[in-house]
Amino acid sequence: MSKQAVVRLEDVHKTYHTGEVEVHAVRGVSLEIAAGEFVAFMGSSGSGKSTLMNILGCLDRPTRGRYLLDGIDVSGLERDQLADIRNHKLGFVFQSFNLLARTSARENVELPLLYGQHRLTSAELTERADKVLAAVGLSGREEHHPSQLSGGQQQRVAIARALINEPEVVLADEPTGNLDSRTSIEIMGIFQELNERGITIIMVTHEADIASYARRNIVMRDGLIEQDRPVRQRLSATEEARKLNEQIEVETPA
Ligand code: ADP
Ligand code: MG
Repeated sequence: MSKQAVVRLEDVHKTYHTGEVEVHAVRGVSLEIAAGEFVAFMGSSGSGKSTLMNILGCLDRPTRGRYLLDGIDVSGLERDQLADIRNHKLGFVFQSFNLLARTSARENVELPLLYGQHRLTSAELTERADKVLAAVGLSGREEHHPSQLSGGQQQRVAIARALINEPEVVLADEPTGNLDSRTSIEIMGIFQELNERGITIIMVTHEADIASYARRNIVMRDGLIEQDRPVRQRLSATEEARKLNEQIEVETPA
């Protein structure tokens, strides 16, 4: 095994049994992801992307094969052990944000800490939550509830929540699926920034342009890896946002 691999899958399979039907959602995937990579999984609907993400995120276990996370074989761990690893090493971002509605941005961000074992006072909790909220550009919005925030801001809160435990890996399943293109670029900007700071990002998207913000694209098909390639012409979110602004200035002269 290469020294720096954060993720190593060895011939991973996942079969779902629903009633009489068996669905072989992942049919033998082997791969390595090194620390500091930014990977986008692509592929049509039903190709097994979410199933694989759930395994990578220790939310589900493979039916067959091995999964080593940071060198630890997690394929055979019990539920509570998986939860423990999840809390320490991983952060999650979802398409639908998954924020608690009647709860402030700050409280949403503090939530993962409340499950873990920490010895922080409530003042320290607040300080830490506000710091990650600031890091995703949400200073001044700490007291806002999700309904008082735009979609992009809600996704930022979700990213802050994913960061509160200082994870090594952030996993994001269709993080821009519910966002317009400008907001999607902003979210990719945050991911590129986090990645520059050394956080490994593993993302699922069905949009080719969004995948181009990553460094590596893996295309799934029928539960298998069809292609695995570095991104040749990588997009920079800063650059794309600037282009978008210039375009608007041309369209609406003063
Ligand atoms: P993708 O995210 O690429 O759209 P999924 O991983 O969600 O694909 O699904 C892969 C296949 O597994 C599909 O055929 C889907 O219907 C099936 N599947 C996904 N989750 C479940 C589940 N919990 N129970 C049964 N079948 C499932
Ligand atoms: Mg999916």
